Amino acid sequence: MATVMIVDDSRTMRKMLAGALKQAGYEVVGDAGNGEEALKLLESVKPDLITLDITMPVMDGMTALEKIKERDPSQKVIMVSAAGQKDKVIGALKIGALDFIQKPFDEKTVLETVNRILPL
Ligand SMILES: [Mg+2]
Repeated sequence: MATVMIVDDSRTMRKMLAGALKQAGYEVVGDAGNGEEALKLLESVKPDLITLDITMPVMDGMTALEKIKERDPSQKVIMVSAAGQKDKVIGALKIGALDFIQKPFDEKTVLETVNRILPL
């Protein structure tokens, strides 16, 4: 089964993403509220794909992305951005993120993007 890990400081956002992904047939193997938690979780979980929020406390998505790609350059990551974060999104794509989802989003857009990167 295609596995996904969700990283976002908003519990509501994590729930929404997890709900949409599970409904579509993905297995959500972990969720984390910031980059530091995500890196810790990656010691025991190996998701096919990570959705990574950019703005988070403790360790933001940009720093987390760098560390994730250092650990495993082949790790698939999609960034979750807010309006006005175009520069960060471009930076993230340069570091190795494969795509991005811009908030606010609907389930259809999320699933289209996830499915393009990680087909079921
Ligand atoms: Mg956030």
